[in-house]
Amino acid sequence: MEVEYLRLSLTDRCNLNCIYCTPREKSGYLGHDDLLRHEELARAAGAFVRAGVKKIRLTGGEPLVRKNIVGLVKLLRAIPGLQELALTTNGLLLKDLAVPLREAGLNRVNISLDTLNPATFKLITGSEGLDAAWDGLMASLKAGFSEVKLNVVVMKNINDSEVAEFARLSIDFPLTVRFIEFFPTNERSANLKGALFTTAETKKRIEEVYGPLEELPPAPAGGPARIYRRRGAKGKIGFISGRSGYFCGSCNRVRMDCTGKVYPCLFSPATHDLKELLRGGAPDEVLADYLKKIFLVKSKYRKDSPTAGHIEMSSLGG
Ligand code: SAM
Repeated sequence: MEVEYLRLSLTDRCNLNCIYCTPREKSGYLGHDDLLRHEELARAAGAFVRAGVKKIRLTGGEPLVRKNIVGLVKLLRAIPGLQELALTTNGLLLKDLAVPLREAGLNRVNISLDTLNPATFKLITGSEGLDAAWDGLMASLKAGFSEVKLNVVVMKNINDSEVAEFARLSIDFPLTVRFIEFFPTNERSANLKGALFTTAETKKRIEEVYGPLEELPPAPAGGPARIYRRRGAKGKIGFISGRSGYFCGSCNRVRMDCTGKVYPCLFSPATHDLKELLRGGAPDEVLADYLKKIFLVKSKYRKDSPTAGHIEMSSLGG
């Protein structure tokens, strides 16, 4: 599989504190000098594109808390050969940023939202931000992005009772609602014992309410989700089954965290560090050649089982 997709984490900071993610109290934040600056991120991204990447997704932490995110999107959009620039966000700051980001050249948005109930939102995220996230979602639907997706991590006895309500959003809005199997990634999420609610259970719940879903052919390079539609719906429904069915064989992505560390696989250690090369003034071709070598070793990290190793989502971005 060619490496064509980079997930680029912009910050370890987040305005939420989700029960399955890196605890805010524990991690402390990286210092200003540890983070790559905008120009460094853009040079690194340019090198990834030279090495074969066609699509970049901005993540975090929460990427929208990064200062002047619109300016950064403009810098990245100017990279020759980059076909698509996307963003994953919790949506809290999206109401005011959706249009400027679209105008700066951002193509797609994924919004992470696990509940439509304010009390459950508080339980999962430690915040009162449900209205802001909803406003962000609505603003992004109006802003003219080529696609808006809603990602829902389904957890037993926490939000599994809402899956039909989420499926309903795919009927009413031109939205791809994707249900993600929860997977423990660190100590905190490992405490959520028994939270796995499988794709099969989620799909059954939805079909009990809305009838059979029709499976759609996978989009070329469409990622790990299996996509369905309910007859007459404006949008689609996707399932990402990282636990019950897993997908190393079709993985075309690499990750770079906000300090310049490159991860060939979500579950691999950081094998390489671009920061020193960037700060040492390495020419673009040297950066690109360095990355091509990393892409070659990616297959070494193919996992033989879907059990997660330890990862901190806040700096790497999932
Ligand atoms: N703040 C941004 C957001 O909310 O989309 C980007 C970073 S967040 C870490 C990326 C995604 O990882 C979110 O959709 C989040 O729900 C997901 N995630 C984090 N920990 C997870 C876990 N243990 N299992 C499944 N998904 C997880």
